[in-house]
Amino acid sequence: MIFPNNPVSLEGKTALITGASRGIGRATALLFARMGADIGINYLRNQAAAEELATEIGRLGCRAVLFQADVADRAAVVQMAAQVKVAFGGLDILVNNAGVSLTNDIFGLTQETWHQVIETNLTGLFNTCQELIPLMQSQGSGSIINLSSIAGRRGSMFGDVHYAAAKAGVIGFTQTLARTLARWKIRVNAVAPGVTVSDMLAENSSEHLDYIVQNTPLGRSASVEEVAGVCLFLASGLANFMTGTTLDVNGGNYMT
Ligand code: NDP
Repeated sequence: MIFPNNPVSLEGKTALITGASRGIGRATALLFARMGADIGINYLRNQAAAEELATEIGRLGCRAVLFQADVADRAAVVQMAAQVKVAFGGLDILVNNAGVSLTNDIFGLTQETWHQVIETNLTGLFNTCQELIPLMQSQGSGSIINLSSIAGRRGSMFGDVHYAAAKAGVIGFTQTLARTLARWKIRVNAVAPGVTVSDMLAENSSEHLDYIVQNTPLGRSASVEEVAGVCLFLASGLANFMTGTTLDVNGGNYMT
């Protein structure tokens, strides 16, 4: 295959990014729009931030459509999928980014928090995939990118069994779905970031974070843009022969 002049162009593509109002999702939405994609901005509560992002994407010359939905709520996702179909007609890229960590260890974890984390990070993925894959199947192409975590690779450094279980689940889900969807030329991959500067990080103690950064060969945490860049790679034609993989974005921390 010969790559076009700009191999990461998303010109003419549509992308739905869950949890796009802040953090990694927002950075991914902006980067994809800079590459020419029209963007579906899913968010839970932060309407003002989502609207501000839509304005910024509009300035880049791309279309942005807001979709308020709790990814853990099946009925809300069914409604969002119908709205996506009306707004875009189809879907080329789905980034399952929405997530919560609600940090706590096995001794402090309540059943409620367990369920909230599993339902947002893992059931949310099941909901969006099951409802949005038909839009990709009908066009015979697509790219799905799921946000896992270094916690899903080697356990959480903060004792978060619920979060690590959900993010490890994301990897198994990704590999299995990649096998199932290959016949429709839909690629399914995951990204596993290490510590990344976002609102989510504020939940963790600075001691823990310092320890992780000290044990990271590149000696710092990631920016949200650096994670977005790997999502772009997976969404682009450069990753045409990649499916079922999980890319680690952690400054070498996974090696230590
Ligand atoms: P943030 O806390 O900065 O942002 C979370 C986003 O998810 C917000 O847009 C929020 O919407 C949205 N969201 C939360 N719950 C739901 C829900 N039920 N339905 C729809 N949207 C929801 O998170 P990050 O950017 O840091 O994290 C993004 C992803 O990357 C997550 O899956 C996270 O687990 C993963 N990750 C993050 C790491 C980090 O160090 N930051 C490391 C490894 C993985 P709203 O603004 O409306 O509340």
